[in-house]
Amino acid sequence: MQKTSQQDNHQMNGVPQPIRGHEGGTDPGPRNVPLDRQNPDILTPPSTDAGTIPNLKFSFSMAHNRLQPGGWAREVTARELPIATTLAGVNMRLNPGGVRELHWHKEAEWAYMLYGRARITGIDPNGYNFVDDVGVGDLWNFPAGYPHSIQGLEEGCEFLLVFDNGTFSENETFLLSDWFLRTPKEVLAKNFGVEVEDFASIPSHELYIFQSPVPGPLASDQVSDPVGPLPRPFSHHMLAQEPLRLKGGTVRITDSTNFPAASTIAAAFVEVEPGGMRELHWHPNNDEWQYYIEGQGRMTVFASTGKARTFDYQAGDVGYVPFAMGHYIENTGDTTLRFLEMFKSDHYADVSLNQWLALTPPELVQAHLNLNPTVMAALRKQKRPIV
Ligand code: MN
Ligand code: MN
Repeated sequence: MQKTSQQDNHQMNGVPQPIRGHEGGTDPGPRNVPLDRQNPDILTPPSTDAGTIPNLKFSFSMAHNRLQPGGWAREVTARELPIATTLAGVNMRLNPGGVRELHWHKEAEWAYMLYGRARITGIDPNGYNFVDDVGVGDLWNFPAGYPHSIQGLEEGCEFLLVFDNGTFSENETFLLSDWFLRTPKEVLAKNFGVEVEDFASIPSHELYIFQSPVPGPLASDQVSDPVGPLPRPFSHHMLAQEPLRLKGGTVRITDSTNFPAASTIAAAFVEVEPGGMRELHWHPNNDEWQYYIEGQGRMTVFASTGKARTFDYQAGDVGYVPFAMGHYIENTGDTTLRFLEMFKSDHYADVSLNQWLALTPPELVQAHLNLNPTVMAALRKQKRPIV
């Protein structure tokens, strides 16, 4: 076969082949071509990739889906993606009226609404209660141990939940129905000051997600609270924040400074235009857990000691960057790339390679990299780009 360019070398009859210049060879199969197409940088890594780096990608499409009356839920945790020890994620759908039952857990729960609207309820240990409706681009955060519920409104909803422990499991939360089932009815009667027979109709199994009628207007669902309104609301309009507009895209940052309830999870909502790139950077505070919402991109993670590995991501994928490792995210598609960066931290922080070099004496930078005057001049201009 006549080789015309590296790009042509990658294809045979329209099927990508693991060939890079004079290296590699065709893959006659068996092979999973749809997966190879989704992961071109795994099939044929750039020549700069080197060494052994653990897997940094897992798609919700590969996660067990728990189907219930009223909706479904699936999770990407340290069991699916072992490197992801700091945070775990759940993707959940609630049909109109579908309820994620009243429950609590040991981890804080941060959430981003992807589709539709939901009513959320919660209380805090001081007796404040909270009932609110959230829509696309809104967040909620329930601190660890605080009880809460979620219910789909007229159009139902789909959302991403993020928990501040990689070993969290959505299937091991403390459920209201389960507690009633595991408590002697005599004890229930004594606790509530009623008769044992009054509990004859409680459900005989845990509910978890169940179908219920769509609730009435928000005002009709408010519970009067003698303590007054919650001082630090559990919800926040992330997409309504004015974005930081940068060359190639935008970013919205939400952490405990503008959303005090999110005291353990910081987030950035990043948009990268076609041809744009989330610049080379790293994070000085913790690992990064990513969720891809729209578009497609690729990321190379630099792990020091000569190691680097490149991954491709699309909507529904989870990405991960271990603490302090350098990385970029390039839009490899022809539509806007949208993703969330999440950190187990009370604040968002990153170190930009551009900014670092722009703020370092040029002679010192030059002594390291032997860059030409054009690059040195470009460096000076880039004091604070994030994208
Ligand atoms: Mn929860
Ligand atoms: Mn990052």
